Amino acid sequence: MTDLDQNISMLQQACANPRERLEHYLNQGKKVVGCFPYYPPEELVHASGMIPMGMWGGRTEWKLAKSYLPAFACPIMQSNMEFGLKGTYEGMSAVIIPAICDTLRCMTQNWRFGVPSIPMIPIVYPQNRTSPASVDYLISEFETVLTMLYTITGRMMNEAALGETIRIYNEHNAVMREFSAVSVDHLDVITPRVRHAVMKSAFFYEKSEHTAIVREIVDALKQQPAYSYPGKKVILTGISCEPDDMLDILTENQLAVVGDDLAQEMRQYRADTPLKGGGGLKRLALQWNNRYGCSMIHTLGKPRGGMLVNLCRETGAQGVVMCMMKFCDPEEYDQPYVEADLRQAGIPCLSVEVDQQNGSFEQFRTRLQAFCDMMG
Ligand code: SF4
Repeated sequence: MTDLDQNISMLQQACANPRERLEHYLNQGKKVVGCFPYYPPEELVHASGMIPMGMWGGRTEWKLAKSYLPAFACPIMQSNMEFGLKGTYEGMSAVIIPAICDTLRCMTQNWRFGVPSIPMIPIVYPQNRTSPASVDYLISEFETVLTMLYTITGRMMNEAALGETIRIYNEHNAVMREFSAVSVDHLDVITPRVRHAVMKSAFFYEKSEHTAIVREIVDALKQQPAYSYPGKKVILTGISCEPDDMLDILTENQLAVVGDDLAQEMRQYRADTPLKGGGGLKRLALQWNNRYGCSMIHTLGKPRGGMLVNLCRETGAQGVVMCMMKFCDPEEYDQPYVEADLRQAGIPCLSVEVDQQNGSFEQFRTRLQAFCDMMG
C-alpha cells in the first residue's frame, strides 16, 4: 500500500468509526467537546487545550429520540439526539450547539434535559451582519462560551493560544481548498467516496493533525500525472451527501465531483479568520461576517446561485446536484433561488432528497441516470 492509499484509508476509517477517534483522544488524557453543526467556535475549544469533535448524525434506529423530536425534524438532529440519549457520546466533556435554525434551537433544550450528563453550551450567531453591533454581540457570545469551557478545564484560554489556534485553522482551511483544487486532476484516485472521506474526517482529528495528513495526500497527488476523466463532472451543494451509497451511484454513472458547496464540506473553508483587525475574539467575529453563500446565514441578494455558476465555470462542472436534507427548512428556502440562477445560466440542476437513514436508492439511481442523459 502506498502512503497515499494508507492516508486515504486512515481517513475513511475515522469516518467509519468516530467513536474510535473519541476513545483515542480520551486515552491520551485529553478532553473532547462535541460540536454540532454549523460553524461552532471550534477555535475556542482548541485554544482551551481540548479537542473539538464534529457531530453529524449517522445511521441508527430512532427510538429514544422520538420522545424529544417531532417526526419532521431533520435526520441529522434525530440521530444526534438518539446517540446522545443512548450514551454513544459518553466521555465528551460538553457539546456546543449553535442555535442557527429552528431545529437546532429546539435541540439546545432537548439536549439540556435529555442528556444531562454532557453539559450543553449554546451559541447564537447574529444574522444582521451589516450592523457594527453584530461584532460586539458575537464577542459577548464567545465570552459566554469561554466561561463555560473554563468550568471544564479550570483555566481561562489566553490570547496567545487563540492566536496560534487561528493560525492552525486558517492553515487547515488552505490545505482543504488546495485538496479540492488538486483533486480535480486526479479523479481516478479521488472518487466521490474518497473526496467525502477526506472532507468529513476533519471533524474527528485535531486540526493540525488533519492538516498534516491532507498535506501528504495533496503532495502525493501532485507527483502523479494529471488524469483525463472520461465521464461528466458535477458540483454538490446542500448540507451533506450521505450515506456513501449515494456517492457510489455517482461513480456508477461516470459522474465525478469536482467541487462542492456542502455545509459538511467546503462551505466551512471559504472564509479565513482575518490576520489583523483586533484580538482573537474580534477576528473570529469578523470571520463570521465574511462567510457567504450559506442557507443558514442571511445575505442580501441571495448570492448562492451565482456563486455556484462561477464554481461550475472554474471547475468545468457540467451540472449541479442539490442534496436536499430531508425536512431542512433553510435549504428549502434557498432551493428555488439557486435552481432559477442555475437554469438561467444554462447549467442543469438535479434536486434529490438526502436522508442518512435511507436504505433504498433506486429512485436516486433512476433520477441520476435521467440527469446524466439531460447533461448530454
Ligand atoms: S439546517 Fe437543516 S439539516 Fe441542519 S439542523 Fe437545521 S434543519 Fe437540520
